[in-house]
Amino acid sequence: MTDDTVSADDTTDDDATTFADLGLREELLRPLTAMGYEEPTPIQREAIPPLLAGRDLVGQAATGTGKTAAFALPILQHVADDGRRGNPSALILVPTRELAVQVSEAFHRYGHDLGLRVVPIYGGQPIGRQLRTLEQGVDVVVATPGRALDHLARRTLRLDGVRTVVLDEADEMLDMGFADDIEAILDAAPKERQTVLFSATLPPRIAGMARKYLRDAVRIEIGRDTPAAGDTPLVRQTAYVVPRASKPAALGRVLDLESPTAAIVFCRTREEVDSLAETLNGRGYRAEALHGGMTQEQRDRVMGRLRNQTADLLVATDVAARGLDIDHLTHVVNYNVPSAPAAYVHRIGRVGRAGREGVAITLAEPREHRMLKVIERVTGQQIDIEKVPTVADLRAKRMEMTRAALHESLLEDDLEHFRVVVETLTDEFDLMEIALAAVKLAHEASGPSDEDDEIPEVVHRPREDRPVRSQQSYGGGGGSGGGGDERPRADGRPPRVRPIDENGEPIRHKRTTGPSAGMTRLFIQAGRAAGIRPQDIVGAIANESRLSGRDIGAIQIADRFAIVEVPSDAAEEVIDALRSTTLKGRKFAVRLDRDAPSGS
Ligand code: AMP
Repeated sequence: MTDDTVSADDTTDDDATTFADLGLREELLRPLTAMGYEEPTPIQREAIPPLLAGRDLVGQAATGTGKTAAFALPILQHVADDGRRGNPSALILVPTRELAVQVSEAFHRYGHDLGLRVVPIYGGQPIGRQLRTLEQGVDVVVATPGRALDHLARRTLRLDGVRTVVLDEADEMLDMGFADDIEAILDAAPKERQTVLFSATLPPRIAGMARKYLRDAVRIEIGRDTPAAGDTPLVRQTAYVVPRASKPAALGRVLDLESPTAAIVFCRTREEVDSLAETLNGRGYRAEALHGGMTQEQRDRVMGRLRNQTADLLVATDVAARGLDIDHLTHVVNYNVPSAPAAYVHRIGRVGRAGREGVAITLAEPREHRMLKVIERVTGQQIDIEKVPTVADLRAKRMEMTRAALHESLLEDDLEHFRVVVETLTDEFDLMEIALAAVKLAHEASGPSDEDDEIPEVVHRPREDRPVRSQQSYGGGGGSGGGGDERPRADGRPPRVRPIDENGEPIRHKRTTGPSAGMTRLFIQAGRAAGIRPQDIVGAIANESRLSGRDIGAIQIADRFAIVEVPSDAAEEVIDALRSTTLKGRKFAVRLDRDAPSGS
């Protein structure tokens, strides 16, 4: 690595770099416009030109920064320049199968007009299908390290044509015990290649890997520049971590509870602006959309409605909202985590002016939780993670509003001509009953009843609470900046912390008691004698099944066998997955642990 580190943080009003300015070909620009991307994110602005020029690169960027397009667009351009070759030209290594699918979908979207062949390869999917796809020839392979190694060993994946290797979420891959696999893959790739590493944190182990495998790398950091003291406005900052599918409902509830006088809701793309504005209007808000695809006249009309307060929510992209000054704004909402801390600071600076209290609300998808941590570190201010209001919270709030409305009505003292209604009813009912019925009518008339489903709560925990194995192998400290664990356990229960010894190895308990609640023990007929280590088992399970490393419970390794605890509802899947894969290059028997001898 060299020292020419670039910060990708400056998002200023007069920064008008377009995707076309970055040197991308027309076929790549069209899908970006169609998807409603208005401008490159900071990491894209800084990373795309050197990547197009063939440089190696280390990018410190978390999910939410737009890093996928930052490496995908230059790769697509290279592949298109070189023409199809049959063997893959690029290999992307990712920690999980979800990410393999997501990244490969992103390649499909961005490369739509180029007609390239991109395939995700991950454990858990029948290998036969992957073999057939690989045989037919592919241009880009997105793979989890274990499965990529498997295919390399079978000679069904050939790296001789590979021009670019990307390590995406490198710190996560190391956390999951993939370090050896990654090094084996890099050693098997052609020496003359471009190597790109993206990681939310750059702990010593990753920096070491970058030194060993990257040449003269450009280094780009999101969140390097700390804003000057006083740059970050003092506003109440809250975030909600919600799954993508629940975001519109979650935002609706948060707004219902916050009751903003006027708010601006920032979205990433034009499509998102339009569809969210529609959703919010359906919920009874007066929301207006504003994005770069609108004419000046349309924009002026929108701004007029906001200024004269016939609209209370403005749903906008960053580009469209630049330079807007709205006086009575009380809330800024980030519908997604912004792509850089500077963008966050810039957005929330729109409220809390002139001594008024402002509120900044951010919705983050589970995987974007780490970006919140980066923003906190850079701004030096805390973002409180709160629970999305429940149905009960909303009912309580609506009830309180009905009570307040009645209170006001009682104070207004213009109730005389309703007296006759109450008096006629008193013949039949007592006053309390009449009052209750009147309140019910008023309450029902005030808005639709909120009988939505509960929004699932996402469990996350700070990096310090993660299984310590990863921190130890990073040389202690868990890396710079920290970050949350965005993956809830498959069964939705809080993650467990696996005990480890002073070497960072999970502690191997004698088996004296049964498995933990909700967990099932699996017996693997491979132990220390076969060179099996806990991380081999964690890696195999995480790679071959839908579980992540955090779902896996205690692991005991004896001389000739190993016992691992997995969530009971995933036990059969894990058995199937382990049976169809290899550990240390060999197949071993795997079954439910009913009668394995205890201890080692
Ligand atoms: P990533 O950090 O790569 O996971 O990207 C986060 C999200 O940002 C994805 O949903 C992308 O579709 C979206 N995205 C990436 N680049 C841009 C851009 N320049 N403008 C708008 N959205 C983007």
